[in-house]
Amino acid sequence: MSRLLLATANAKKLVELQRVLDGQLGSGRIELVSLAEFPDYADVPETGLTFGENALIKAREGCRRTGLPTVADDSGLAVDALNGMPGVFSARWSGRHGDDQANLELVLAQLADVPDEHLGAAFVCAATLVLPGGREHLVDGRQQGRLIRSPRGTNGFGYDPIFVGEGQDRTNAELTPAEKDQISHRGRALRALGKVIAKELT
Ligand code: IMP
Repeated sequence: MSRLLLATANAKKLVELQRVLDGQLGSGRIELVSLAEFPDYADVPETGLTFGENALIKAREGCRRTGLPTVADDSGLAVDALNGMPGVFSARWSGRHGDDQANLELVLAQLADVPDEHLGAAFVCAATLVLPGGREHLVDGRQQGRLIRSPRGTNGFGYDPIFVGEGQDRTNAELTPAEKDQISHRGRALRALGKVIAKELT
């Protein structure tokens, strides 16, 4: 069985990728490990200006430090009227890393004078696989949609309560996790990467 590092300490991301890989390759083909197995692993600064750059920085560093084939992802919200921001700054838009409520409120405040017809936005996810021999793969996934001004729903996280995907009448926070996986940027990127992993590692 091949071992694969997912360069995150986020246990939910590990479960999500394992589910995708089990679905595509059959269970037990890939042993996925996270940074939780490497207690001395120092934080890698995400200094890129695009999702792809940040995902590659994390995966290259994971591969270099552990010698394992490594997957990493980076994602966020790109708002048309904000020229694609918060983008790579999505997690820290309000200045406090991971404060989902403050980040969402700041985006809504910035859009207060923008007419409803200009509230287009997309969730974007870049996912990478870096192999010890130096081969690299980069894929991405998008969920196109629009923002609403009053948050709805309690599932999901981040900007989900103010995002309605194309063809949907519910926000992402009103979808079940399985419904969101089918259409989300991350679901799409991880399924695309799953195919690459199948070719490279099995
Ligand atoms: P990360 O790639 O997990 O670090 O996510 C970066 C940030 O983008 C998160 O903190 C959220 O603010 C935002 N984000 C990424 N994916 C989603 C999503 O599926 N729903 C809502 N917000 C998201």
